[in-house]
Amino acid sequence: MQSVTSRFALRGFLIDAPDFGSLRARPNGAILIENGRIAAVGDYDDLRRLHQPNSIQWPDLGPVAIFPGLIDCHTHLPQYSAVARGESELLPWLRQHIFPVEREFTGPKAREEAPRFFHELARNGTTTVMAYAAIYEESCDIGFEAARRSGVRTILGKMMMDHGSYGQTQPKKILSISLLESERLCRKWHKAENGLLDYAFSPRFAVTCSEKLMRGAAELAARFGAYIQTHLAENREELEKVRHLHMTARDYTDVYEKCGLLTQRTMLGHCIHLNPREIAAIAAAQSSVAHCPSSNLFLGSGLMKLDQILKAGINVGLGSDVAGGPELDMWQVMRAAIEVQKARTAYEPNLRPLRPSEALYLATRGGARALGKNTAIGTLDPGKEADLIVIDLQALLPYPQNRNAIVGLTPEDVVALCIYRSGPHANLETYVRGRRIYQAPKVANRV
Ligand SMILES: [Zn+2]
Repeated sequence: MQSVTSRFALRGFLIDAPDFGSLRARPNGAILIENGRIAAVGDYDDLRRLHQPNSIQWPDLGPVAIFPGLIDCHTHLPQYSAVARGESELLPWLRQHIFPVEREFTGPKAREEAPRFFHELARNGTTTVMAYAAIYEESCDIGFEAARRSGVRTILGKMMMDHGSYGQTQPKKILSISLLESERLCRKWHKAENGLLDYAFSPRFAVTCSEKLMRGAAELAARFGAYIQTHLAENREELEKVRHLHMTARDYTDVYEKCGLLTQRTMLGHCIHLNPREIAAIAAAQSSVAHCPSSNLFLGSGLMKLDQILKAGINVGLGSDVAGGPELDMWQVMRAAIEVQKARTAYEPNLRPLRPSEALYLATRGGARALGKNTAIGTLDPGKEADLIVIDLQALLPYPQNRNAIVGLTPEDVVALCIYRSGPHANLETYVRGRRIYQAPKVANRV
């Protein structure tokens, strides 16, 4: 594994999405990385001339594309083993398939699965993840330890729920224990590893949380400057439940507003069934939204009105939402995001579909902005921390042996090929802060 003090360069088709809808590209480009940061970006010939051949490594990875690392703004560490399970909607699916899996996620099982989970993220090209652990303090501790070892930039939190929980704790004690354990985890892990790890207070959603718990979580997050993550307006049955449980609230979002959960450091998962007041309230609070299209399709939750959320000025990232979503691969999540908006155009003919370049923005710079990390990551600008992925372009082609097929590809072609055909089979290398945290066996065997 490379040390962060090393100085090296990567050559390839550089592509990033600095703004929604815009692509920036250098077909024969190169990036110089020094001390974990992007030191220079330019055309290969220029950069090579500027930097003495002997003073720097220029590994030849063949025809590759280099992107900023992919950002997953919403997923669940304990649920990965239960992907693609069940055919029901959210609430029965949680009871039948997810709570039993989360209940088991502690001790040896958590210690075995957590490192694999973070390895899978790196293998899929995810360099930053925001995730929920199970309800146990230990599950979150083990998760952070695995994240630290893996090198993946991670925001994690212990799942908080004091209604209908799956744990053994006496109902009377759940509230105080949940707050106490979350605080202890935050003190230990928030801003750890020089800022690679962060803590998120994580009340599951308004169906399983009392107002006291949500208020307590909000107060702790404010005290420590930590993140908050929760689910909002994912499914219609859930909306009904929340309406009955929180009778005095104006709407679902108001439940969180009243408890102080809408902050600049809040990530709201899903946000499918919102009224205009709720969208305005989220925008006013400068909270962010994690759009999880593959999960929304799997659980039949609905088609997110992405245009309305973006029009309100809300920062949006994408989430795999495993195990609601069937995979951690963010290229597939981008594809689902495009297909969800395309499906809407069948009923709303004036709607403009989501373009591949816009989906790439959401999975990189958009996610970085939603997490408040856009000065550090999300694009290929000099000065940013070197979170990058290297994609084997030939692995995306229908006839990979035809090397000439790569010649003449536009940046839009490459992004579309990645979204429709990329995945771990094409991901050659993953870097976080200039450290290589994953290398495909075919490259490792060659070196
Ligand atoms: Zn979720």
